[in-house]
Amino acid sequence: LPILTIESTCDETAAAVISDDCVVLGQCIATQEALHEQFRGVVPEVAARAHLERILPVIDTAIRQAGVSPDDLTAIAVADRPGLAGSLLVGVVAAKALAIAWQKPLVSLNHLHAHLYACQLSNDQLSNESSVYPCVGLIVSGGHTSLYYCTSPLDLEYLGGTIDDAAGEAFDKVGAMLSLGFPGGPEVSKLAAEGKRDAYAFPRSMIHEKHFDFSFSGLKTAVRYAITGPGQQDFAKLQIDDQVKADVCASFETAVVDVLLSKCRRALKQYKCKQLIIGGGVAANRYLRQRFENAAQQDKFALTIAPPDLCTDNAVMGAIALEKIRRGDFASFDLDITPGLQRGF
Ligand code: ATP
Ligand code: MG
Ligand code: FE
Repeated sequence: LPILTIESTCDETAAAVISDDCVVLGQCIATQEALHEQFRGVVPEVAARAHLERILPVIDTAIRQAGVSPDDLTAIAVADRPGLAGSLLVGVVAAKALAIAWQKPLVSLNHLHAHLYACQLSNDQLSNESSVYPCVGLIVSGGHTSLYYCTSPLDLEYLGGTIDDAAGEAFDKVGAMLSLGFPGGPEVSKLAAEGKRDAYAFPRSMIHEKHFDFSFSGLKTAVRYAITGPGQQDFAKLQIDDQVKADVCASFETAVVDVLLSKCRRALKQYKCKQLIIGGGVAANRYLRQRFENAAQQDKFALTIAPPDLCTDNAVMGAIALEKIRRGDFASFDLDITPGLQRGF
């Protein structure tokens, strides 16, 4: 019997209906990118209001697509952390209201755990879990860049993470500096394919340090100075040559991936681990996937990267709820949101 999963942590309103053997029966994602583009970033109040308008139609679409009736559902799962407060609230309130109205148990999900769980999902079927763990897990998303040692989908030990910007945030800011629209990641990646990867010697912050923290704000500043020269600030007025744009994107993307790969290799070694899993929006990046695949062959570790369409926010990765249900781990109806997390959790 299927579960309903709800995702509204940032600027995607999503729902999915997933069978107990992890087949996706129906799903719907309403993205808000067009609403936020003019602001070059997600505006929390705009996001919350858009979620409110979309959440019920999105849930309804997923349920209709699945061809089930609410009576058939065994549980309702919702991401209650981390994310934007107003956005989380819409999903959590909708999930609680439906759980009470339909008399279904409620499951709370950690959105980051779900991002990593996407590695176990191909587009419609769960792969064999026991082959993946123990592993090192890397989350590279719009708000997080974190490394974990994982012994199961729900048992993650935080090894380190960014002390300032997330990798995805850096992609978005570089995109904004080059007027590439929002979110910048996919566009930066497209341009990077045409550029010279060693055109600019951008910093690889903390690459040689033994801990597993990251820093991307210095890289962002270096990109800014490469574009404007010191002092000049108004990006909108700059005319930047297409080849320069491509070279900046390629050099930037290479710096990001160099650092991510180096830290993952060190974590695999230190934790004597033979498996690496990667999830989150930036894991959709083609160059990143290529570099990690090459490294996996060279160093002989097993690599699983989430399928590209399950890297950015979606409700299918909410299939991790099945793991919680198996443990009998349900939420109470006074479930509240947790927008910010302690470092790593
Ligand atoms: P979090 O999961 O940390 O709360 P989020 O949900 O906003 O943040 P995701 O949806 O996982 O983040 O990912 C969105 C991010 O992924 C954006 O920063 C976007 O630019 C980036 N991104 C998407 N596709 C690509 C790509 N091909 N290359 C690089 N970055 C990408
Ligand atoms: Mg998004
Ligand atoms: Fe996310």
